[in-house]
Amino acid sequence: MIEKRQFYINGAWVNPASQRDCDVIDPSTEEVCAVISLGDQADTDAAVAAAKAAFPGWATTAPEVRAGYVRGILAQFEKRADEMAAAISLEMGAPIDMALSDQAACLPWHLKNFLTAFEHMEWVRPLGPHAPNDRIAMEPIGVVGLITPWNWPMNQVTLKVIPAMLAGCTCVLKPSEESPLSSLLFAEFCHDAGVPAGVFNLVNGDGPGVGSQLSAHPDVEMISFTGSTRAGRAISATAAQTLKRVTLELGGKGANLIFADADAKAVERGVRHMMNNSGQSCNAPSRMLVERAVYDQAVEKAAELASAIKVGPASEPGRHIGPVVNKRQWDQIQGYIQKGISEGARLVAGGLGLPEGLNKGFYVRPTVFADVTPGMTIEREEIFGPVLSIIPFDTEEEAVRIANDTPYGLTNYVQSQDGARRNRLARALRSGMVEMNGKSRGAGSPFGGIKASGRAREGGHWGIEEFLEAKAISGWDSAQDIAAE
Ligand code: NAD
Repeated sequence: MIEKRQFYINGAWVNPASQRDCDVIDPSTEEVCAVISLGDQADTDAAVAAAKAAFPGWATTAPEVRAGYVRGILAQFEKRADEMAAAISLEMGAPIDMALSDQAACLPWHLKNFLTAFEHMEWVRPLGPHAPNDRIAMEPIGVVGLITPWNWPMNQVTLKVIPAMLAGCTCVLKPSEESPLSSLLFAEFCHDAGVPAGVFNLVNGDGPGVGSQLSAHPDVEMISFTGSTRAGRAISATAAQTLKRVTLELGGKGANLIFADADAKAVERGVRHMMNNSGQSCNAPSRMLVERAVYDQAVEKAAELASAIKVGPASEPGRHIGPVVNKRQWDQIQGYIQKGISEGARLVAGGLGLPEGLNKGFYVRPTVFADVTPGMTIEREEIFGPVLSIIPFDTEEEAVRIANDTPYGLTNYVQSQDGARRNRLARALRSGMVEMNGKSRGAGSPFGGIKASGRAREGGHWGIEEFLEAKAISGWDSAQDIAAE
């Protein structure tokens, strides 16, 4: 069993101020696989103080030097990618092959995209030809608190720590208490890359503890949060007392609009995307809206595909799906499946209970409901498990109405060969992202939502700008710019 009670503060591994053990449970076996400690106010204060002391030096370090440390983190990852995949797989149940090819791979992917965006950053910008002596200086906001969830742990840590560092901020990371092992390894990467003391700090803890202490802390200028809409609201309320900037990446209830002229793989793509990571993705296309003419075919195909998906332990190689993260999530998903049945949706694949042949572990049967109607609980609420709802529609207008009639607005999807329709829908759908015909977003594209899905854009250029303040300067001596060139 792994024992990792220490925190990473001011460039060193330190013991918690008071020991509060927290078990990390392997969701594949329900056994305790690691013990960490949950921090308290003294640990949070120590980490924030270290970040505050490091800020002036780091903020004025030349951008290319900051980028050099980030490249060092990438080099550490490249040496230890297998270890990272193993940590993620153990802590949150991603099958080991997928943990390496998808989960851990988020780190180099985002990191490289940030470095590309960083090269093109203009730190001091002209306001415009109408104001030749005005400049806008982009400056780091200060000490930032980064709070992350367990479902794509390295994806979210990379999307916060790397742009914060590149921007010149110093940070305190509080990863999810469900998935702390990958973040502890990430701290080792930072240490071994020689990141200066205090620039990156990590304190483990829970939401009511370290999470809300960071949100309330007077020396923390900004909280960047990814997680549930519930916690996002709590953080915003706490942070309001000190008027922090708060960026939020929250839940989703994506609609996937499949028209009669969609390509032959559209239904399969939708089902696989939904079931990937055992349905634990904020951008999962969890509502499949299908045009009536191809509805029965789509239902049959989705049921067949979902029934054929293998479910099994995270340690087994291969392309199956693993368990969901914990008992609480398992119970919640079972509750939603029960609600789907009792509210009259037609269960066409999966259902309640454990998949056949598995009697321990938080495994969920890949489940598909057909004849779901707008307003049913499974159509409204984020389930965060491998449960797909299929809804028929007759017209494009009706499809848009159903898709937009949700508190969420993260990602929507469109499948159609009609380019004019795709472009129309891309603008009509109320969400931060629209992905069509299976084309995933390009490198450096901004990730984020609207409405109850949050207030933030992460990734690439946008992700770095989130950590910067725009300082308006007038009376700038332009002659000095020419002299400096
Ligand atoms: P969660 O909100 O329970 O926890 C996320 C993090 O917030 C954890 O580190 C937790 O300890 C902390 N936290 C919880 N309550 C807090 C509080 N009151 N104050 C401060 N910190 C607090 O979410 P989760 O269950 O870990 O993750 C699942 C949720 O995350 C889903 O709703 C999912 O849609 C969302 N998510 C969103 C995105 C996105 O980019 N939009 C990405 C991944 C996950």
